[in-house]
Amino acid sequence: LQRLFGPITQLSGLQETAQTVVVSFSRIFELLDLKPLIRESPDAVGLAKNVAPDIEFDDVSFRYPTADEVSLASLEHLRSKRESGEVTADVLRGTSFHVRAGTLTALVGPSGAGKSTITHLVSRLYDPNSGSVRVGGHDLRDLTFDSLREAVGVVSQDAYLFHDTIRENLLYARPTATEEELVEACRGAQIWDLIDSLPRGLDTVTGDRGYRMSGGEKQRLAIARLLLKEPTVVVLDEATAHLDSESEAAVQRALKTALRSRTSLVIAHRLSTIREADQILVIDGGGVRERGTHDELLAKGGLYAELYHTQFSDPASNAAKPEIEVEF
Ligand code: ATP
Repeated sequence: LQRLFGPITQLSGLQETAQTVVVSFSRIFELLDLKPLIRESPDAVGLAKNVAPDIEFDDVSFRYPTADEVSLASLEHLRSKRESGEVTADVLRGTSFHVRAGTLTALVGPSGAGKSTITHLVSRLYDPNSGSVRVGGHDLRDLTFDSLREAVGVVSQDAYLFHDTIRENLLYARPTATEEELVEACRGAQIWDLIDSLPRGLDTVTGDRGYRMSGGEKQRLAIARLLLKEPTVVVLDEATAHLDSESEAAVQRALKTALRSRTSLVIAHRLSTIREADQILVIDGGGVRERGTHDELLAKGGLYAELYHTQFSDPASNAAKPEIEVEF
């Protein structure tokens, strides 16, 4: 029976592989139909290395491309929009702000206000329809893809892990990293103790079919990647997923290391991040509605104060809720 089942199991595995290949091919053809909207200028220059640059949005207006202008990144989103009969409208209208080099800016605001869109423009997933996004004084359209990719590190809510060893998942961020550098990055990201406790350590296979990392562990591995990559600009979408308080504290400590002396733009959901930010931008109605520090904005009594009081304060006692409960 064993002899019979072996080949059958192998065959069903083969079928799965064949299906994946067919799906991949149709996806490639689908992609071949697309026009790249983002191009590298023939005169593109490199961004200065190892120096945290400033970021400037100068009168930026942006709407997501329509189906016939489609870019790769918006394909899925557009498909669902088309199915629901929606069309794209201006997300940003004449938005201007400045993030000083080496400082942390927190983006807050209602859902759908355009916070992620701002971060997409910083990583040049799209170009603005008018106005200019400048990093280190250069319009992004004048920079080489390589130098921008090297400078900007992105940590999104759900870090993608390849079905491979933890080591390979880390080396992807810096292929030349030594064993010591990997361990150091994992320590900084508060994930080393966990990896070290696994029987195969860094050689543990992770992903859907391997060791399944929890949400907090994945985030910390993403932070370890960030520490290895050493970008000068960090774009972070702080997770809203509710972590247990131990993971939460570990992620917070890891982030503190990761953001130190880099220029950071954080879609912030945690009060601790918002309080520590050098500047808070309240995004609403297609642009920056308010800007300032936590104390300044609270004193102003505008939208930020309103969001803060609904999200963070207990109306009965007016005391702040525990931080892990909050979502901004
Ligand atoms: P949230 O806090 O809910 O994540 P957000 O402030 O980050 O919201 P965005 O994700 O930037 O808001 O979305 C702003 C607007 O742009 C929304 O109306 C959204 O539906 C639309 N949008 C976002 N991504 C795309 C896309 N890839 N293609 C087309 N429209 C998009």
